Amino acid sequence: MAKKLKAPAVDIDSVFSMQQITNQTRLLETLHFSEAKFISLFDTTDQGIIYLDPTGSVVSVNQSAEHMLGVSMQNIKGRRLTSSCPKIIREDGSVFPHEQQPMMLALRSGKPVENVIMGLFNAGKKSYCWVNTTSVPIFKPNQPQPEQILMIMTDISRWKLNEATLNLASVIVNNTGESLFVTDKNRKIISVNGAFTAITGFTQREVAGKHADFLHASKDTIKIKDTIKIYDGSGDDRSAKDSWQGEVWQRRKYGPDFPSWITVSEVKDSHGRLTHFVYMFIDITQLKKVEDRLGFLAYHDPLTKLPNRMLLKDRIDHALQNAQRANSQVAVLFLDLDRFKNINDIHGHAAGDSLLREVARRIKSLVRKEDTVSRYSGDEFIVCMEDVPDAASPASLAQKLIDAFELPFYIKQQRLQISASVGISLFPRDGRDGDTLIKNADAAMYRAKKKGRNNFQYYSSGLTTDAFEKMATDNLLKQSIDRNELLLYYQPRICLKTGKLAGVEALVRWQHSTLGQIGPLQFIPLAEKSGFMVPLGEWVLQTACLQMRRWLDEGLSIKKMVVNVSAAQFLHCDFAAAIERILRMSRLEPGCLELQITESSLMDNSEQSAKSFSQLGAAGIDMTIDDFGMGCFSFTKLKSTPVKKLKIDSSFVKNMGNNSHDEDIVRAIIALGHSMHLQVIAEGIESEGQQKQLQDLGCDEGQGYLYSPPVSPASEIFRQLMP
Ligand code: C2E
Ligand code: MG
Repeated sequence: MAKKLKAPAVDIDSVFSMQQITNQTRLLETLHFSEAKFISLFDTTDQGIIYLDPTGSVVSVNQSAEHMLGVSMQNIKGRRLTSSCPKIIREDGSVFPHEQQPMMLALRSGKPVENVIMGLFNAGKKSYCWVNTTSVPIFKPNQPQPEQILMIMTDISRWKLNEATLNLASVIVNNTGESLFVTDKNRKIISVNGAFTAITGFTQREVAGKHADFLHASKDTIKIKDTIKIYDGSGDDRSAKDSWQGEVWQRRKYGPDFPSWITVSEVKDSHGRLTHFVYMFIDITQLKKVEDRLGFLAYHDPLTKLPNRMLLKDRIDHALQNAQRANSQVAVLFLDLDRFKNINDIHGHAAGDSLLREVARRIKSLVRKEDTVSRYSGDEFIVCMEDVPDAASPASLAQKLIDAFELPFYIKQQRLQISASVGISLFPRDGRDGDTLIKNADAAMYRAKKKGRNNFQYYSSGLTTDAFEKMATDNLLKQSIDRNELLLYYQPRICLKTGKLAGVEALVRWQHSTLGQIGPLQFIPLAEKSGFMVPLGEWVLQTACLQMRRWLDEGLSIKKMVVNVSAAQFLHCDFAAAIERILRMSRLEPGCLELQITESSLMDNSEQSAKSFSQLGAAGIDMTIDDFGMGCFSFTKLKSTPVKKLKIDSSFVKNMGNNSHDEDIVRAIIALGHSMHLQVIAEGIESEGQQKQLQDLGCDEGQGYLYSPPVSPASEIFRQLMP
């Protein structure tokens, strides 16, 4: 059986005090734990902590505060903070008076003073440690005055440094000569600097929120977009360049676009994500001008400003390529001044230079825009003529160049007389490349010198003879009107139904005293090329109209005076007005006049020709297409031009009897003309058979030796054919 144990007797007082001891011990343990926690926090926190007593003396400081102040706990404990750290300053650098320091304010007011920034001089580092401080008063229970002040300090030195750097950057950005703007990643403008506004005229307010493309002149937007592709990674270039430099045209608020050298850089965040673009640029207008000037000097002669040898070669090569494609000719004219050395020797080099400048100006004024004039060397000039219509045409330019020296040059009030010799080579006959053509033109020029200077020579000497002949004829032709050498013959035109006179065609002849009578087929093309066709054509019109007046006054009832007109006349802006004047002068109705034009002049699409056609049509003047079937015509053109008649070319009429093909053509032309309500005339009728065939085909009128060749106006034939 278990022995019942008896509980010992207990002293109740001693039990109570044991309980107390246990509680106190637990309390002490809690306190120790919480002190340990506080100490570890106190020692390890980044924030500096200082306890001050009401006199401002240091009770304790943690390690972070020791670092900030540059002093150790032993040296500072019990001493006033201001004596251990005598230099405390405000943000603006002024001394922080002791009484106004935040810990003293907290002590006096009994309230926390938060977020005061001050600089504590760190004697060890010999620099200020910038701290953001909060001072908190600590009270003992039931005590009105704080027992201590807890000063918590956050080191903001790095932040202050960043701020200083940013300030510095902002000062630099705003004062730099380089224009700058910043965009977001979508290239919307966020900010601009002062230089930007100074150059572009746009203020921050005017461009903020606008797309960066707004600032680029339209021609460069694509270039910039390509650049941006690089940043997006959407472009081909995946090498992830983070900046781009290049020349870009920028817009200005007022004034013209300007060239700029621009650098576009990416800005990325700490995760490498694109956040902004920075655009920096400088105006390179002046630089470009210098560059252009240098470029100009590289290809031009500084004295005359004409293209130099290098540019000339380039132009000749280009002209030869074009000519090869178009199967056309190019001429190289080599001009050398005769005895230029004498000018330099007698009048000095300055006068020589001025003369060369003047010569360059005269030569330039004589060539077409598409031709190149170059100063080849010293007193040698070269003209490259593109699109040369025939071998003879460079001769007229050569002669014009030589004639340009007939007038003296006046250099500094001195009268200088000089002449020039010209050599001509032609592509492809005299050379197929620039060097050969120049060499051969030079050789031809030497021949011109040998022949007594002041003349031109072709490299192929046969051409020189032809050209001289042509030019001589040209000159003679130009004198023909004044010398009364032109005359008109008239050929009757017959109505094929009645056999009676329907009109007369005026045909020009040139009666030269020594050359004899020259037919229009020989001299009209010359007149067309030399620009003499307009006065010649006007002479014909006037003479024909006056003759018509005379016949009408004599009682001959001639219905139409037919006059041939060249394309050159239609191209002349005065043509319709000249006809009106002539009709008025000869007192003829517009219906009396019929103009014969070739298919090719009708096909000329120039505005002036179209204007002349419509003015004449509106005035009631008949127009006939001559030699129909020989050129190329368009129905549309035929329909839209006020043409009244078609004249079948004599070659078809001639072969009608023995060539069924030509008869078919004649039949087709008559059918075509009638379907378009046009009258059809046949020319070159020489036989009764041809007449009969044409009558059977329904041709309206006819002309030819069968009735009469072209004759002088005095001929009786016109009276005989009267209706
Ligand atoms: P066209 O207008 O076709 O003139 C007809 C030409 O054929 C004339 O030659 C005339 O003499 C010739 N002819 C006339 N009937 C016959 C014939 O039955 N048989 C042959 N074999 N020939 C005949 P012409 O006078 O030598 O004129 C030639 C061309 O010159 C004209 O052709 C015309 O295109 C042009 N022409 C003549 N005078 C002028 C003018 O004043 N101004 C313009 N721009 N051209 C003119
Ligand atoms: Mg004719």
